[in-house]
Amino acid sequence: MAFAGFLLVPDGSNLQLIWQVTVGWYAAAMIVGAVRHRRPPMAAVWWLVAVGVAGNASGILVEFMLTRTGTEVGFPSWADAAYLSLYPAVAAGLLLMIRRRSAERDWSGIVDATTLTTGMGLLAWIFMIKPAASDPSIGLLGHIVSVAYPVGDVVLLAITVRMMLAGGARNVSFRLICAALMTFLGGGTAWAVINQAGWEPGPFPHAVLADVFLAGYLAFAAGAVHPDVRALSRAVAPRPARPSRSLLVLLMAASLIGPGLLIVEAVRHQVTDTLAIGLGCAALFLLVVTRMSQLVKQLDLQTQRVRELAVTDELTGLPNRRAWNTELPRAIERARRTGEPLAVAIIDLDHFKQFNDAYGHPAGDLLLKEAAAVWTGNVRSGDHLARYGGEEFVLLMPDATAERAREIVDRMRRATPLGQTFSAGLATWNGNEASDELIARVDTALYEAKDAGRNCITEAAAYAS
Ligand code: GH3
Ligand code: MG
Ligand code: MG
Repeated sequence: MAFAGFLLVPDGSNLQLIWQVTVGWYAAAMIVGAVRHRRPPMAAVWWLVAVGVAGNASGILVEFMLTRTGTEVGFPSWADAAYLSLYPAVAAGLLLMIRRRSAERDWSGIVDATTLTTGMGLLAWIFMIKPAASDPSIGLLGHIVSVAYPVGDVVLLAITVRMMLAGGARNVSFRLICAALMTFLGGGTAWAVINQAGWEPGPFPHAVLADVFLAGYLAFAAGAVHPDVRALSRAVAPRPARPSRSLLVLLMAASLIGPGLLIVEAVRHQVTDTLAIGLGCAALFLLVVTRMSQLVKQLDLQTQRVRELAVTDELTGLPNRRAWNTELPRAIERARRTGEPLAVAIIDLDHFKQFNDAYGHPAGDLLLKEAAAVWTGNVRSGDHLARYGGEEFVLLMPDATAERAREIVDRMRRATPLGQTFSAGLATWNGNEASDELIARVDTALYEAKDAGRNCITEAAAYAS
């Protein structure tokens, strides 16, 4: 209603100005009201946003009053101070919010936001900031103020992108704040382009452009009033470091802005911004390489993690059968080289099915876990205990004679938790067999132990029968 009504009011009329100021102040009042009633956790953020919105809307009133008092509204005027107050207030508020919403610092988000801002900043520098800074028709203060608008837009853009890439709840309030920021940025850019082109918009386009800022005020207010505002401060882990497809396209576009500008200037035979473009490109290259090294580091970490997972048994945390399958041939090779003895045992819990049936599978899992931990504490530091599968475990004992190996396994048997027992087959490497032959002998010995009544350790014959 605020927008539609605004468009119906004659452009340039007092009523239109009053409408604008009223909507801006009303939005600021709504934000203040929401802070008082909803008591959102980040009150300071909303106070700052309210100040920015009220300040910006007051600019219109100041300009109107200056005109009414017959003062020639030059440039810059007090109205500009009011308009510009939006930037520092909203920027400070949003920075506070980003900090509260980030569970941890996400460097990839920071690099991406910097990349996008650098590209857009380069465009802003060439088309807005530099021309504003070198306009001879305005004094020093005029230069500062006219540069402040595009600089403010670039800062707001940086913060908007940062906010969208950082962690935190993405609820309705968040989306409304983003919409408000985009609206201000869109409006600011549209005015900058119009001023740059020296175009005088007619009454209707003028009204629409002014209306855009009203939409921004109200989007901020709606963000504050929505019940989601309370959840806005909840810290959420940042998005994954891997950029989405659309973000990649944006990053690519931002990285190509520098070379693109240079090509356009070269084609026009008016290469006037070599230094700015050179510096911009250098910064963008460095950012891209930084991002690449972040991704490579992350990939390395993930590869390492996958490698660990591939050789670890999930339940007990022991090495799994895959790890064992590479460990045993290696140990045999070492024993062949050094001539030291090598013992291997297979351990199988007795009547584990009964245990499961009696106490349930979770209790069975717990027994496996506890047994693995207790046994690990009873083997020597160089021994290699692995989960072979189900309730079967294998133990590799380098440099252990059959007697020593029996002592170790017996110590484990006695330490088995929850009053449970196991049977074990045991063998020492006979000096020429392959790993599967050794395992087959140990397995036969295990069957003998089970046949012998369980809860005992049987040593295999030196050669398979
Ligand atoms: P034996 O004394 O002859 O070894 O008898 P057993 O009951 O221990 O042996 P059996 O091979 O008959 O049964 C093994 C049981 O181990 C059956 C299976 O449900 C259970 N089991 C295998 N893996 C797991 C596991 O990861 N968790 C639990 N809770 N049970 C498991
Ligand atoms: Mg078994
Ligand atoms: Mg068993």
